[in-house]
Amino acid sequence: MKLVILGGGESGIGAAILGLKQGWEVFLSDRAPLKEKYKQELASLPICWEEGQHSEQEILSADCIIKSPGIPQKAPIIEKARKKGIEIISEIEFASRYTQAKIIAVTGSNGKTTTTSLLYHLLEQAGLSIGVGGNIGNSFARMVAQEPKEYYVLEISSFQLDDISSFRPHIALLLNITPDHLDRYNYQFQNYIDAKFRITEFQSQADFLIYDADDPVLQEELAKRKDIKAQCIPFSLEKSNEQGAYCLDDKLFHITINQNKFEMSIRELTIKGKHNLKNVMGASVAAKLLNIRNENIRKSLMTFQGVPHRLEFVKEVGEVRYINDSKATNVNSVYYALDSMPDGLIWIVGGQDKGNDYNPLIPYVSQKVKAIVCLGLDNQKIIQTFQSIVPTIIETHSMEDAVQVSRGLSEEGDTVLLSPACASFDLFQSYEDRGNQFKHYVNML
Ligand code: ADP
Repeated sequence: MKLVILGGGESGIGAAILGLKQGWEVFLSDRAPLKEKYKQELASLPICWEEGQHSEQEILSADCIIKSPGIPQKAPIIEKARKKGIEIISEIEFASRYTQAKIIAVTGSNGKTTTTSLLYHLLEQAGLSIGVGGNIGNSFARMVAQEPKEYYVLEISSFQLDDISSFRPHIALLLNITPDHLDRYNYQFQNYIDAKFRITEFQSQADFLIYDADDPVLQEELAKRKDIKAQCIPFSLEKSNEQGAYCLDDKLFHITINQNKFEMSIRELTIKGKHNLKNVMGASVAAKLLNIRNENIRKSLMTFQGVPHRLEFVKEVGEVRYINDSKATNVNSVYYALDSMPDGLIWIVGGQDKGNDYNPLIPYVSQKVKAIVCLGLDNQKIIQTFQSIVPTIIETHSMEDAVQVSRGLSEEGDTVLLSPACASFDLFQSYEDRGNQFKHYVNML
């Protein structure tokens, strides 16, 4: 049987390795050049592959095609394969067919990496045989092929949920839904919502869907969707619940699963801010569903170090704190960043706009931000939105400049926050590059 893999990134290479192990004849094709490390890996395997082109004859003779999440449904080769009736699936679907392990899948517009990493920390510290990957680190298929475990925690993007036909997480976390990636969903928010909800499509009554009960989109959708079979378990900062997690003050949060309770002081948590409290509650509910003991949960929540580029404290210089939130690539994540910051902010913002509406930020900006440092090729929208609110707005075009200008604007007790609300690709290679440059220039101050 012939397996064709379209896209030679981490998920494609993982799928190739797993396919080979399962006895498929594998052909991998990428229209762009492959990364050197993947070429080397392929060279050591009995796999045919090509880059810089798609050979139609090879591809359209497949019994099954695995499509990279990066390839749009409208790509001509995908349309042709569909017309021929070839099965097209995603890499997570493929991998899930070859493992009996329990899957814990985390999706949402924001907080996926933080929550996935925290959940891994919780379960690994408690001694479970567990792998972590998906949209971060190793692909699911690679883990199934190379490091079989009893549990997998997977970060799942909406694109990976396209093209599933049986992928069934035992526990799914749906953290929140706010507009993002609309360019890939015909600019229809509902299409993006539907993609996210596919995480629960193949769950049964024995499975769980953990969700943010305060999120208006999730509230509305869950009220509408009568076909969800999983047991839905909420977490909330607004309402108490008998099954799930909640926190109604800034002191304690509470979790109850089948009358078994857990409580912890918020002061003891290592990661800060309301959004991280939500991530903590979601991950802890999952841990309790897997019968992790309270003392283990508590210990792990007190030792989790957070993830780089997410509200990462960099350094204090002259009593000014510098915080790297380069991963804040949309307005919603900036909203939570501003929420968790004190007054006296110098805010570095801007980059490649994704159709942003900055208006939800206006209350926090007028209360907390004393100066804006724009860091993007085109800053017009930011300037227009905030010029009547913030007295000082300065444009910069390099990280070195942005850090220097921020330093000049700051006084004792202030905080310089890089939280861009935009993609990084106009001036940087990636959000990591942007965050690393920020740290580099801050460390030189
Ligand atoms: P993702 O993997 O979904 O992009 P990350 O954990 O990498 O999420 O965080 C991305 C950005 O979103 C960071 O700026 C972070 O501070 C912010 N963030 C994290 N959790 C949440 C949440 N639950 N709601 C809103 N924003 C969040």
